[in-house]
Amino acid sequence: MGLNCLRSQIRMQHLPPTSRQVALKIVLLYLIISLFWIFFSDQFLSYRFDDPLVLSRFQTYKGLLFVLVSSVLLFFLIWRYLRALQTSEGRLLMVSEAVSAQTGAKFFHLLAEHLQDVLKADCVLVAAADQDNPSSLETIAMAYDDDSFQKFRFNLENTPCERLRQNEICYCPFDVRGQLPKDHPFSKMGMQSCLAMPLVDAQQRTLGVMVVMNRGPFPDRAAGESMMRIFASRAASELERRLSEERISQLAFFDPLTGLPNQQRFSEQLDEALHQIENSDQRLALMYLDFDRFKTISRALGVDQSNRVLCDVASRLKTMMPANGFLSHLKGDEFALLLQDFGSLDDLQTWLKNILDAFRAPFPVAGHDLYVTVSVGVAIAPDDGRDSKMLLRNADVAVSRAKALGRNNYQLYSAEMGKVSFQSMVLENRLFRAMEREEFLLLYQPQCRLDNGAIEGMEALVCWKQGGRSQYSPSDFIPKAEETGLIDPLGEWILETACAQNRAWQQQGLPPQRVAVNVSARQFHRRDIVDLVARILRKTGLEARWLALELTESVLFQDISDTAETLGKLRELGVHLIIDDFGTGYSSLSYLQNFPLGTLKIDQSFIAGIPADTGSDTITSAVIAMAHHMGMDVVAEGVEKQEQMAFLRENGCDKIQGFLFSAALPPQDFAALLSRTSNKMTQRI
Ligand code: C2E
Ligand code: MG
Ligand code: MG
Repeated sequence: MGLNCLRSQIRMQHLPPTSRQVALKIVLLYLIISLFWIFFSDQFLSYRFDDPLVLSRFQTYKGLLFVLVSSVLLFFLIWRYLRALQTSEGRLLMVSEAVSAQTGAKFFHLLAEHLQDVLKADCVLVAAADQDNPSSLETIAMAYDDDSFQKFRFNLENTPCERLRQNEICYCPFDVRGQLPKDHPFSKMGMQSCLAMPLVDAQQRTLGVMVVMNRGPFPDRAAGESMMRIFASRAASELERRLSEERISQLAFFDPLTGLPNQQRFSEQLDEALHQIENSDQRLALMYLDFDRFKTISRALGVDQSNRVLCDVASRLKTMMPANGFLSHLKGDEFALLLQDFGSLDDLQTWLKNILDAFRAPFPVAGHDLYVTVSVGVAIAPDDGRDSKMLLRNADVAVSRAKALGRNNYQLYSAEMGKVSFQSMVLENRLFRAMEREEFLLLYQPQCRLDNGAIEGMEALVCWKQGGRSQYSPSDFIPKAEETGLIDPLGEWILETACAQNRAWQQQGLPPQRVAVNVSARQFHRRDIVDLVARILRKTGLEARWLALELTESVLFQDISDTAETLGKLRELGVHLIIDDFGTGYSSLSYLQNFPLGTLKIDQSFIAGIPADTGSDTITSAVIAMAHHMGMDVVAEGVEKQEQMAFLRENGCDKIQGFLFSAALPPQDFAALLSRTSNKMTQRI
């Protein structure tokens, strides 16, 4: 603020009513005294002197005296006015020079301190209003001799300063304490008089207040008010800036749905916390929370309701957080918690149990009770990692373990978990989440008859899409799904989806086809596969003859008598049975006679060798002949070349499956292919 600008600001100041009254009083007094003087002095002189010459001389002396006294009086008044003006200019310059280059918190602190100094006030404070409730304020800067009052909240309701809300100045020259509630911080501070000014933005919204208070009566209201007025607009724009900075930081570091710190903020907090414990014996627990089957919940409830559940979950977690805890919403249904210096491991486990228990109570959703469970993985620094990357990774590994162990539990990371290769752990972790997030889909690879070129049957092949692209081949993740038990729900989903899809195609009027579904060892031996298949057929309405199950040699030859019994029951249901990848298990063909198999699929490794590798040629032709002899159809897998097809046709193979004819297709593409080829066939007929 320039000096000239300041001067003009002081002069332009709208004089407060008190100054005008004082000026008026002085003029009136001067008028009365002058009139009295003129009247009585004339009376006195004409009474005292008879000689007109003497009288006239004395009247001249009297006039001169009057002018002299008036001049002295005028001089005195002007001198006082100019001195006051200079003093306030000086004060203003002082405050202005101190605060003009400052912004943010420093500005408010210096403003409060200098105002206190120049106004000789006991306390000056600046407070910001709560955006939702402008009556509630929080101090952001304060100049006061007692350090115990630095940052506090106070309310304007039921106080003499309530009118600040109407953007009016509040002036209480005495007995402020008597007018405030007893527990109000101002009365605790022993304040008796106050002058408060609202800080408003261009839209006349109250952003905060500036308050000058004294333990005694207010010394100079006019000076205080002018000073506060001059800095009010600057303070208001600083408050506005502070608010927009807060909003920007809210957007950058907080999740808009739950209001919790987001992933970015969490990483910063984690780094900070790790730095703090670096040279101490403190420990830090990082907890990774993943809600169980949340995808299913959100699909059933819709986006709005499931978002509401997430907010409720966040609020419930917030109530559980101790003072040394930091809760954050990472994404979707994933939350992370930091607990610094958590005491003993037993204390931590008790707290974790409480977290799980807190989710026993249902969440009310649309008039229903929704039960949500959570899996928690815990990694402790510095034992399980000294840097954030390692700690996060280990907490992730622990949460996968919690999921694998049946969900709704917590797992502390252990070195034993770490022994399993990291890749494998990551895969396992992602697999469990993929199931919940419905990242799996089924593709259908058509099979083609070699005698007439018609499509006959298809194989359902599971595919794992991540972010729109396929990441893992089933050969990589199916063994992992078997190992962890995930194959049970996944296999059931595959079977049901394939049956439902096949039924849907039939209902659309497409020529009925048999869908072959791969069944893994764990599915076949551990679960009651017959009941499962029967149930799914009933549920989807697909006739059993349109379903085939593909079993590899290793599955069939694990427990031969049980296998034969199960296969018998499946056959009784009407389901077609296929031996897959034949030739890889070195099983004898004659053994296959024990099983009611309808089709044999020659493994693609043999087909790949045709026609160059004579060994493959011989084996393939022999297998085709023997399979036919045993009454089985033969399908050749992995047919990529014309020569392979020609060889297979020559040797009487029934069907081929492979890229030469078609890769595995998404359902809509498969339906299009089927309808195209069936039209062609109809035209040919
Ligand atoms: P599979 O049952 O022998 O399936 C045939 C595999 O050969 C598929 O690989 C298929 O995409 C691939 N293939 C088809 N035509 C050609 C070709 O012309 N050339 C070559 N090089 N490959 C071809 P995919 O989809 O990677 O599946 C691999 C294995 O994963 C399957 O072998 C099966 O054992 C297992 N699998 C796939 N889907 C499922 C499923 O839904 N459940 C279970 N339990 N296992 C599945
Ligand atoms: Mg197969
Ligand atoms: Mg195969």
